[in-house]
Parts: sequence; structure tokens; C-alpha cells
Amino acid sequence: MRLELYNSATIKAPGRLFDPSRPWTRETLRVRYGLFEHPQLGVTLVDSGYGPRCFGRTAKRTFGLWLYTLIFRAELLPQGQVSQVLADKGLKPEDVQTIIVSHLHADHISELRSFTQARFVGSRDAFEAVGRSGWRGPLLHGSFLELLPDDYASRLDAIEDLPTIDLPHGLGAGRALIDGVLSVVPLEGHAVGHFGLYLHAANALYAVDAHWVLQALHSDQPLVGLPRRIASDVNAAEAALRRLRGFEQAGGTVVLCHEPEASAFDVL
Ligand SMILES: [Zn+2]
Repeated sequence: MRLELYNSATIKAPGRLFDPSRPWTRETLRVRYGLFEHPQLGVTLVDSGYGPRCFGRTAKRTFGLWLYTLIFRAELLPQGQVSQVLADKGLKPEDVQTIIVSHLHADHISELRSFTQARFVGSRDAFEAVGRSGWRGPLLHGSFLELLPDDYASRLDAIEDLPTIDLPHGLGAGRALIDGVLSVVPLEGHAVGHFGLYLHAANALYAVDAHWVLQALHSDQPLVGLPRRIASDVNAAEAALRRLRGFEQAGGTVVLCHEPEASAFDVL
């Protein structure tokens, strides 16, 4: 199994907003998603990145989502759109059998409605928390139920139901998705139910949004700025970062969704 990461869009933000060691100049961040194929899960996506349902000129959005897209402006990359990447491989949206949904922030679920045949692997806690968050919840937490397919709950295979396992290199308890190949690593704190994926053969962890940039992860400083403000649980987020630092010290590789530098898994 080979995970490929693609970049769906760029977002520009002042560096100091997400890393205390950076200047205030605006930096360009990526918005990655993943794609792989495995006999057990079929054609599988890891999130969807940003797409036209958030940023398309004719997108039908609620006022809240429209406001969100004004605040967190992104520039879509046509060649990195999930529909385009699939088409380049001769695949249609209906060919996608599984979508692993790391959490419910808009930049991870923007295009999920395009996939009518897929099962979703995601957190039940996350889905229930968004449902409870009231009318201000989406803007406060960046999770918009309108981006989820109407039958999301009935197509959801909850990570909470997967068998628990002990992961190596200080990662602690995880859940087996594909035995000995791919495991779910709960990384609470960034959002309710947020999790990463451990690739056993590569000894690598796609830690999604546990932090925004690797430099900040390595700096050993407490979470500050935007990553702290949007965290669902700051203490849990910092505990997750400590685990990631320990994992790296033990020889593991951490990959993040928004890191500007290329990773070993990036195709685009
Ligand atoms: Zn996020």
C-alpha cells in the first residue's frame, strides 16, 4: 500500500499566527488529502481537501459557510482537485469505495458529497459533537454539516468500533484499520475525534492537523495563535504534540496536512 498525498489548494496566513518562531509575513500553506488503493478498502481517499463546494464561484452555501470562506480564503489548484486527480487515473467518483475522514473541518470534507458509493471511516464522537454545537458551532469550529452527504451517518464505519492495538514508538493506543498495515491514531485536541494514520511499513504518521507546520512541532513550545484558538481541547492537543515529538525521537516520520515543505508522500 502506497499513500499518495495531493495538494488541493493553497491558503495564505501570517507565519506568526501558527508558529511563534516565524515572522508576520504571509506564508503559503498546502491543503493536502490522500489517496491509496488496498484490496481490503478499495480505492480510498484520506479526506478530500478544499474544492468547489467551498470555493467555487457558483457554490451554494449557507451564510455561515460563505462567511467562513471569506475569512479563510483559499486558492483552489485545478490539477490537485480530487475529481481531477481521480480522472487522471481513469477513476470516477463512484469508484471510490472508502473515505477516511480525519475530522470534520471544512478543508477536509469540502467534496465528500461527490462520493455516493463510498463508506466513511471516521469518528462517531466528531459527528455527534458537530450535531450538538448549535448555530454558532460551524463558524466557531469550522465544521459544516452541509458539506456532509445527507446519509453520512448511515455510511459511517466509526473508528470507535475498530479493535484497539498498542502502537510502537511511543504512539500509545491506536485502532487497527488494516491489520499490520494501517492504523488509526487518536490525536484529540485539534477537533473532537481528530485522528491520524500510522503507516506501519514506512514508520510514518500522517498526523493531519495536530499542528500546522513541522517547525512548530519541533520547537517544543506550547500551542499558540490560531492552532490554539481553534483547538477543541488545548491540553489534549499539547499532549498529542508531546506524543508526536516522542515518536519522531524514536525514529518515526510525521507528516502534516498544511506543512509548506514537500513530504516524502507528496505527488503534487
Ligand atoms: Zn482541522
